[in-house]
Amino acid sequence: MKTFDFRHAASVEDAIDAAATGAKYLAGGTNLIDLMKSGVERPSALIDLRRLGLTSITSTDTGGVFVEAGVSNSALANHPLIRTQYPVLSHAILSGATTQLRNMATTGGNLLQRTRCPYFMAPTFSACNKRDPGSGCAAKDGFNREHAIFGASAECVAIHPSDMAVALAILDAVVHVQDSTGRRAIPIDSFFALPGHTPEVDNTLRPGELILGIELPASEFCDHSWYLKVRDRHSYAFALVSVAAGLRIVDGVIASAALALGGVAAAPWRPPDAEASLVGKRPTAEAFHTAAQLAMAGAEPLRQNEFKVDLGRHGVVRALTLAAVSR
Ligand SMILES: Cc1cc2nc3c(=O)[nH]c(=O)nc-3n(C[C@H](O)[C@H](O)[C@H](O)COP(=O)(O)OP(=O)(O)OC[C@H]3O[C@@H](n4cnc5c(N)ncnc54)[C@H](O)[C@@H]3O)c2cc1C
Ligand code: SF4
Repeated sequence: MKTFDFRHAASVEDAIDAAATGAKYLAGGTNLIDLMKSGVERPSALIDLRRLGLTSITSTDTGGVFVEAGVSNSALANHPLIRTQYPVLSHAILSGATTQLRNMATTGGNLLQRTRCPYFMAPTFSACNKRDPGSGCAAKDGFNREHAIFGASAECVAIHPSDMAVALAILDAVVHVQDSTGRRAIPIDSFFALPGHTPEVDNTLRPGELILGIELPASEFCDHSWYLKVRDRHSYAFALVSVAAGLRIVDGVIASAALALGGVAAAPWRPPDAEASLVGKRPTAEAFHTAAQLAMAGAEPLRQNEFKVDLGRHGVVRALTLAAVSR
């Protein structure tokens, strides 16, 4: 591992100043340190955020919840406000990693974890546009069973691995960030970047911007939601395909619906036509099958991952079915 400077941030402003001079933020370290050990990340300095105290979860005046960036994944998943008002978020987080990792990993770090594409993770492979722009994409004609079927580009077919982000997508979460010019709020739908011609860019943060926290608006899906994760092993594995589903059912009719798929794109993938098809329908198998067809329309599977299209279709039906009967 390359040598680097290390210190704890004394305040948010101190952390932002350090980042402006090239330091990288360190939170739980469960992704960043691994990438430093393998040589994918080579920062000259780390600024540790863990003494900033960004660890509160509070109700907002508008009936929602604000989660500070340093809240651990375990604390978030197990918090009473999250379990009762946003059970889909709790389920999604608890489906990921292990208890030990979730105890270390933070809300901000989870959003910014990097892809698990094996060619990205191992610098011994020379062709990876995300790690080394212009070098090519080894996955396109190589091992691509776990890669994207939506929103990919000729330059990169990687997916974003976060489970938490998929649940945040159907909750219309908003990411609050700060740099030396001030604060701004980024809706989760505009937070992640598809690869296009710049696969090295994962999101729409400006260099050095610090995530302060995530705002969850009042949820309409607390009574009917589900997070379904399909993976090779039942634990300690990333999603091949996942589905977050939320329904608001009034007098036996779907008044609003939200769907997001994980494991299929470089961002949580919302299928607006599928969501619209559910509104005004009764929560029946027929309505769910129609939504599933629409959700997977336009998928562009790679040589090894055509199975994801079928998996996605079945996953959408199952997640909607379980959401309809939950609670
Ligand atoms: C074996 C293993 C299995 C896993 N399985 C899953 C899984 O199934 N599902 C899943 O979703 N995840 C999984 N993870 C990923 C895990 O959830 C992430 O590693 C973790 O959430 C990252 O959080 P962290 O606080 O440790 O981030 P760090 O590793 O500290 O940081 C990650 C990145 O975020 C940046 N960062 C951190 N905080 C901030 C902030 N406040 N503002 C700006 N930048 C910031 C850092 O600079 C760094 O670039 C797994 C990880 C491992 C090691
Ligand atoms: S899919 Fe993206 S991350 Fe993987 S090798 Fe290709 S460019 Fe790199």
